[in-house]
Formats: sequence, structure tokens, C-alpha cells
Amino acid sequence: MHSPLLRCPRCGQVDAVQKVSAISAGNQAYELYTRGGRVSHGNERKPFATGRNPYQTPLSERLAFPERRHGCSLVLLITFAAILTPASAILAWMNYGTAVSDPSSAHQTALLLTLALTLVCVAIALICSLMRTRQRRLDKPRRERALTLWNTLYYCHRDDTVFVADNPLQIANSRTMHTLIGY
Ligand SMILES: [Zn+2]
Repeated sequence: MHSPLLRCPRCGQVDAVQKVSAISAGNQAYELYTRGGRVSHGNERKPFATGRNPYQTPLSERLAFPERRHGCSLVLLITFAAILTPASAILAWMNYGTAVSDPSSAHQTALLLTLALTLVCVAIALICSLMRTRQRRLDKPRRERALTLWNTLYYCHRDDTVFVADNPLQIANSRTMHTLIGY
């Protein structure tokens, strides 16, 4: 049994429809789709457009799956875990050497201060890492649901319409796609 071609719910045409995940992957070729997958053009009508679309790159960025940045950003984690902690540890080690060879109170204070600084950096890096892990774990079911939905979205290049194959009433455009996947 041949299932019908997917039509854009706005213009009712099949020739400018492309799977959102294929656009996001940078696929330049237009295909004809059914609910079961893509079909070869064969003796069907010629696809909407060929060649490079100048809007393809911003469009594929807009239609890409919206990955979340997790609260405590990666930059902060790298700054504390990979730069500030080792730097303050080296400083503490140097101050330790100085305090051993010349145990004046100024050198001892410097040693204590750099030790405290190292501990603070380690603590911040740990908290960042724990927060990221926790947010990822809490976010995982929502992200997976949204990703599954996103994989069923189609886009009509003629009228900037994003739609769900199984429910033609659910439509958006490339800027409001996130409302369809709730993420
Ligand atoms: Zn259309």
C-alpha cells in the first residue's frame, strides 16, 4: 500500500516539504515524504527548488534542536576546575617552599591565604560540576520527549511552515518551532 505524500498544511503542496532534522543536518536536497519515510521523485512533480538556498544556513540554525545550556555554564566549570584551581595550588606550593626556608609570619600568612584560595576554587568547581549533573538528570526526560517530537517535524520552504506529520493542525514557523516541541 502506498501512503499519501506529506502535504504542507498551509499551502497544500508536497514539493517544498523537507524533514526538519534533514535541514538541520545541512541536507540541501529536497525530497518527497510520506509518513513512512521519504520516496524517490521518480515521475512525481519536480521538487520545489534545487541548488543552494542562501537562507539555508540561518534556517538550519533556527530549525536545529534547541539544546539547553545548563545553569552553571561549562566556561565557569573549566575556569575553576582547569585554570584557577591548579594555578592557586602552584602558588600555594611556592609559598610553602618560601615559608619553610623563612618561617616569618608574612610568609605563613601568604601560605594560608593561597591554601584557602585553592580550597575555595576546588569547592566552586565541585559545586558547578554537581549542579550540571543534577540539571542534566532532571532535564533528560523532557529533552528526550522533545527530541522524539522534533524528529517528526517537517518544514515547508514555500511558506516557512513547521508542522507535525500526524497532526496538521499543529503548525508553527521556523522562529516559533520550539512551541511545537515544548522545549
Ligand atoms: Zn507550504
